[in-house]
Amino acid sequence: MTISQWLRNCPLPKLEARMLLQHQTSYTPAQLITRDQEVLGGQVLQNLSVWVERRLNGEPMAYILGVREFYGRMFAVCPDVLIPRPETEHLVEAVLARLPENGYVWDLGTGSGAIAVTVALERSDVSVRASDISERALVVAAQNAATLGAKVEFAHGSWFQTDRPSEKFGYDVIVSNPPYIEAGDRHLQQGDLRFEPQHALTDFSDGLSCIRILTEGAPDYLKPGGWLLIEHGFDQGEAGRAIFSQAGFQEVQTLSDLAGLDRVTVGRKV
Ligand code: GLN
Repeated sequence: MTISQWLRNCPLPKLEARMLLQHQTSYTPAQLITRDQEVLGGQVLQNLSVWVERRLNGEPMAYILGVREFYGRMFAVCPDVLIPRPETEHLVEAVLARLPENGYVWDLGTGSGAIAVTVALERSDVSVRASDISERALVVAAQNAATLGAKVEFAHGSWFQTDRPSEKFGYDVIVSNPPYIEAGDRHLQQGDLRFEPQHALTDFSDGLSCIRILTEGAPDYLKPGGWLLIEHGFDQGEAGRAIFSQAGFQEVQTLSDLAGLDRVTVGRKV
């Protein structure tokens, strides 16, 4: 079977079919076109049919391919970590805008390490620490840091309780993309989310419990004038700002994503 025939017969959307082919053949999108009369080998065809079957089962493309692009770089991903989302690139930008020269940033609940690794690579002057409750996620994050050449200090633990000493009043920025989907939200049973780690998506409560934990704990670790930045759901801006203000943060505001939806709330420690 030729590339062209395979593409014609594949039941997946064309873009996905091409992505699977690209990864199996190591051809660029242009080569897939110029070499479309090339005959595919038996092993490649077999691998492709396994991938197509998985995709038809609803498995996310990122888990099938084992990678997802974030901020222009390829990150390894697997079902132990949330798939990095484009919205989270805004969170990274907001961090970069607030990090002083030679600053120190702590990413809590780092997952694949997308935020921490990106910040470390965009800003060679800063120090980056990343933590997660999942040891398996930390393995993925450390692998991404190593592959992409980022210097990140990793710690294991739940939020501010980590196995390595944290610096009290030592961080210029504390950032997190915590689980923020409310328990029972129907989205958890739909699309990619069905395959992602549930503890990375939902707090199994009202969706705001991690914002409370982070706003309560962060003042003990932020320098005066330091910033806390948290990603949240499009409908959590108002509640998020209220929680930040109650915890004593100043200059509290919510930033929106490309779709114009509330996505990140920030506040400054006085
Ligand atoms: N943005 C993700 C979604 O709604 C949720 C990520 C998270 O809970 N941190 O699909």
